[in-house]
Amino acid sequence: FMDDFCKMTVERFDGSLKAEHATGRNIAPFLELEWGPRATELMWRLKQIIDPDGVLAPRIVLDRDPRAHLRGLKTIPRVEAVADPCIECGFCEPTCPSHDLTTSPRQRIVLRREMMRQPDGSPVETGLLDAYGYDAVDTCAGDSTCKLACPVGIDTGAMMKDFRHQRHSPREERIAALTAKNFRAVEAAARLAVAAASRIDDRLLEGVTGLARRAVRPDLMPAWLPEIPGAAARELPRTSRAGASAVYYPACVNRIFAGPEGQHAPSLPQAVVAVSARAGKPVWIPPDTAGTCCATIWHSKGYDTANAVMANRIVAAAWGWTAGGKLPLVVDASSCTLGIAHEVVPYLTEDNRALHRELTVVDSLVWAADELLPELTVLRRAGSAVLHPTCSMEHLGDVEHLRAVAEACAREVVIPDDAACCGFAGDRGMLHEELTASATAKEAAEVNTREYDRYLSANRMCEIGMDRATGRSYYSVLMELERATRPGPGQV
Ligand code: SF4
Ligand code: SF4
Repeated sequence: FMDDFCKMTVERFDGSLKAEHATGRNIAPFLELEWGPRATELMWRLKQIIDPDGVLAPRIVLDRDPRAHLRGLKTIPRVEAVADPCIECGFCEPTCPSHDLTTSPRQRIVLRREMMRQPDGSPVETGLLDAYGYDAVDTCAGDSTCKLACPVGIDTGAMMKDFRHQRHSPREERIAALTAKNFRAVEAAARLAVAAASRIDDRLLEGVTGLARRAVRPDLMPAWLPEIPGAAARELPRTSRAGASAVYYPACVNRIFAGPEGQHAPSLPQAVVAVSARAGKPVWIPPDTAGTCCATIWHSKGYDTANAVMANRIVAAAWGWTAGGKLPLVVDASSCTLGIAHEVVPYLTEDNRALHRELTVVDSLVWAADELLPELTVLRRAGSAVLHPTCSMEHLGDVEHLRAVAEACAREVVIPDDAACCGFAGDRGMLHEELTASATAKEAAEVNTREYDRYLSANRMCEIGMDRATGRSYYSVLMELERATRPGPGQV
């Protein structure tokens, strides 16, 4: 192929063999074909003057072997089917929240290939296997932004989740499935624990959870972070199904955790209910949301049985709530929208897959930007707001909706150049604090170069991650929209 290709390019079209890349191994044998013997010999003479021992780029660019491009080819052993098409181009690397801390998606795949090249039991293979658990599997945020950047669509995050699944013992899978089956009790206990924890000194909690993490496993037991907010109100706002324009599903994180001001300000569910009614599009919160969630907490950890339990439960429930998809289902956390709209699908039964096709799952940002904003009058605007677009918003294509709602609420809106996935990933930022610290370092430094009046996003756990990174208080832009359009005197 290279013989024919190079002859065609040079002899038929008088073209150049190089464009974006320079002369590498593949083109080296064809240098003379392109440049002729005199120019090539000139290059050799220069090379001999500058690099008489041939230590610079050895056996690349200038190589007298006419088969140099076929010599010492890198082998590409088969690894996991999802990763086999990887061409090791590295486009995925800058987007990856762990690339400064441990490994990038490309490195995760390259390391797997090197394991396969090694003889069984070799010291290199043993060393790679030992390091891979933390450096690749544990510190993957599972956000799959690598897939968005990859020219062949490789989801390295899915591969890491599958490794997590494979290392679970049957007992761990059973326990996880029990947490899904009994999620109503788990949710109530989590809310109570958060409420109790808010009355205990942070240092004590950090010490206790630190001990528990050493006793259990740092990848399973979350650490306590001082930025974790207090508990949400026990009751969700009262709403009516009659006349509702949409079913509003408050994500479990928003049923467990309060906003940055605790229970002193309208909660996110109160804000969504109020601002929707104000726009003439009232929403209804089903009375039986407790015990349901988007399944992402199990999906991200690779607990497949638990994930399937909750995926099927939320789809069946949502189909009932929305009267078979007649009303849209509005979800107030972008990662949960992504979970319910897309990630649950492979885990559904055939029947529930059919129900899922009838649902219209709408992220709260889209609801606010497309349905509410045109009907609202903004009465007060903040001076400036900085946004944190989450990786789920990137997947959903919602970032412009976040910007549109923020621009209605603030005169100046900034998305930092270095905004990227925060790596908090539900609770991974509590399991491996260093992941969020590394992932957010550049964005936080940029945010903190100046003061903003508002720090806005639309995913509670990412907001907590950004609070920790910046020392500011992030909250949902829908709370700001409610404040900006609230009738009566209000603080600017
Ligand atoms: S962008 Fe895709 S093909 Fe390129 S290195 Fe990353 S995973 Fe491999
Ligand atoms: S899922 Fe996220 S953390 Fe994991 S490899 Fe992909 S970009 Fe990196």
